[in-house]
Amino acid sequence: MGFSGRTALVTGATAGIGRAVAAQLAREGADVIVHGRDAVRGEEVVAEIKATGGSARFVQADLGNAEDVQRLADTVGDVDILVNNAGVYKFQSTAEMTAELFDLQMDLNTKAPYLLVRELAPRMVARGHGSIVNIGTVAATLTTTATGIYAASKAALEHLTQIWAAEYAKQGVRVNTVSPGPIRTPGTAADEATLKAIADGMTAMGRVGEPEEVAEAVTFLASDSASYITGAVLEVGGGRPAIGG
Ligand code: NAP
Repeated sequence: MGFSGRTALVTGATAGIGRAVAAQLAREGADVIVHGRDAVRGEEVVAEIKATGGSARFVQADLGNAEDVQRLADTVGDVDILVNNAGVYKFQSTAEMTAELFDLQMDLNTKAPYLLVRELAPRMVARGHGSIVNIGTVAATLTTTATGIYAASKAALEHLTQIWAAEYAKQGVRVNTVSPGPIRTPGTAADEATLKAIADGMTAMGRVGEPEEVAEAVTFLASDSASYITGAVLEVGGGRPAIGG
């Protein structure tokens, strides 16, 4: 994909999808900034990347805190690729949702990407190029019960993708979303039965996806191979089953 000489910030790269994205971008030649809160896992990801000849460093920040998001942006400075992956999903009905969990999901899934784009996209514009990939979810466009505010926080991110794509299209910066279906990650590992039930009922393929399969799509959209693609939502969700099928 030719990422040599490019720097990529991947948020939430200490686990799951973000970790796979960081590894793949590094394999393709990018200098990767591995972000997360857990320094031990962060350094583990960096060591893995370096062991295979790649370049990476870890930066810690709690994206639930706007000051920390600002500090992350100030620390990384110029990046060519931004992958807004860090996220949290708390599947609860409206009656069960607390104000704290509402705020956490909006802060992490919507506000942190917003603030990072606000800070980092103008720097991309100044240098004439950049690619931003947001991680959404198929839940953002499906009506299901209990995905509530999680789905809404990601729907906002997908909507912002279109807005940012329009804002930056003529200035060399592309903005796209990858929208995963059920993926096997540390975040979903706790409830394998539910994950499998979702995969059975909501994917045409009837199987759970792997983080590497999402990383392939992110890498493509981040690369110059996607040079005429902006504002797109690329679903990586095993296909949608036919209604009544
Ligand atoms: P995961 O295994 O739970 O990993 C979450 C990552 O986000 C970790 O690296 C974690 O870092 C980071 N993170 C969590 N809270 C954070 C905070 N407050 N500040 C900074 N970083 C934080 O998640 P995943 O399943 O790979 O999901 C990744 C993204 O894909 C999310 O946006 C999720 O909504 C989306 N997605 C996942 C699925 C799925 O089935 N897995 C499906 C659709 C969409 P630390 O542990 O170091 O804090």
